[in-house]
Amino acid sequence: MKKIKVGIIGGGAAGFFAAINCAEANKEAEITILEKSSKLLSKVKVSGGGRCNVTHACFNNNELIKNYPRGAKELKNAFSVFSTQHTTEWFKQKGVQLKTEEDGRIFPVSNNSQTIIDCFLHEAEKNKIKILLNSPVLRIKKENDKFILYVSDKELLFDKVLIAAGGYSKADSYDWIKGFDHEIISPVPSLFTFNIPQSKFEGLQGIAIEKGSVKILGSKAEQSGPVLITHWGLSGPCILRLSAWEARAFHSSNYHFKAFINWIPEFNEEKLREVFIKYKSEHPKKFVVSNPLFNLPRRLWERITEIATIEYGIKWGDMPNKKINKLLEELIRNSIEVKGKTTFKEEFVTCGGVSLKDVDFSTMESKKCKGLYFAGEILDIDGITGGFNFQAAWTTGYIAGKAMAV
Ligand SMILES: Cc1cc2nc3c(=O)[nH]c(=O)nc-3n(C[C@H](O)[C@H](O)[C@H](O)COP(=O)(O)OP(=O)(O)OC[C@H]3O[C@@H](n4cnc5c(N)ncnc54)[C@H](O)[C@@H]3O)c2cc1C
Repeated sequence: MKKIKVGIIGGGAAGFFAAINCAEANKEAEITILEKSSKLLSKVKVSGGGRCNVTHACFNNNELIKNYPRGAKELKNAFSVFSTQHTTEWFKQKGVQLKTEEDGRIFPVSNNSQTIIDCFLHEAEKNKIKILLNSPVLRIKKENDKFILYVSDKELLFDKVLIAAGGYSKADSYDWIKGFDHEIISPVPSLFTFNIPQSKFEGLQGIAIEKGSVKILGSKAEQSGPVLITHWGLSGPCILRLSAWEARAFHSSNYHFKAFINWIPEFNEEKLREVFIKYKSEHPKKFVVSNPLFNLPRRLWERITEIATIEYGIKWGDMPNKKINKLLEELIRNSIEVKGKTTFKEEFVTCGGVSLKDVDFSTMESKKCKGLYFAGEILDIDGITGGFNFQAAWTTGYIAGKAMAV
């Protein structure tokens, strides 16, 4: 085994995973994690509401990549090396019991992210990985096959270096990486909820629809899934997915766009019209407003009928076609105007980062600089919520760790 010095920039999920896997593959490697702050694994700590959603129970890589608005193509090969199944086995081997929730999200049985942190710290100690806190890397230089890392007032020398510094919100924060001619895709936020000032649904906060669908006007973007009405607009998995897939487009529009909600996506206009005609003839004496259809929550149904200008005492038998059309419109093409965004429980991720075309995904080595590697959110990779972002960190960290060990 080669005696090598490996420097890992970033004491987060990807950095630790790479460091541990590198150390296990090469017992002679001298590995140092350099963390700019005074805390290690701080995002792991707050992740998943303090429970750490480590991965997702999606064990088919063709399905798995569908959860990555950016990076799907490159991750496909990477997942063939280390995927969700490997993640669960890895943690199990290290003594961390995991559980899968109904929606597929996987958490430690302890429901405490500290379990994951303790596991990493224990493995790091066992493998004699050095950790330097308060050590921001300000610049990297390569000289005679060695990397010089400029860390505050020190210069440290390494044979191989991994950049696992996470995502930055500002483009100029990436300047220290650009040195080797790496292209940086400008960062914009992903995973946010929609602000709808003067929303038609004001006062209905807390109402959740199990399956709605939202389409963006003037684009092909459409997602379906749970929709939640909030104080400020809309949230829920359907909205978060849209925010991730359309992160760049929404940013360009300054988060100002029109959208349509279909509260009952299992119906199109034709089918819904048939249902209404049948209902009208079978239940002419039933009041429209006070008898919610399609299992919609009563308060939401009442608001929709109010927007469709259906008076309280009107019965189905007396519904004029004009009102039926209006109700139909409000149910399947309810228009909303989004003006601004709110970060979802602070669980934002960065869309953008080091361009994937500059990285060899079989090793995570830079194509522009031999011996320099990338892993985690520093790359132009991001997933939707559900454990997919950590999975990308584990996968890229694992591949980089093993490749650096050689
Ligand atoms: C609140 C919150 C909750 C989340 N919950 C989940 C979840 O449950 N499941 C999921 O899959 N994803 C979740 N995510 C996303 C996930 O946390 C990230 O995608 C993941 O942490 C990325 O790992 P990373 O190692 O690449 O970056 P990070 O975890 O951000 O780690 C990077 C580290 O590098 C350090 N660093 C940066 N620059 C330098 C420098 N120049 N020198 C030295 N050190 C540096 C940083 O201080 C940081 O400690 C959540 C994100 C947030 C913000």
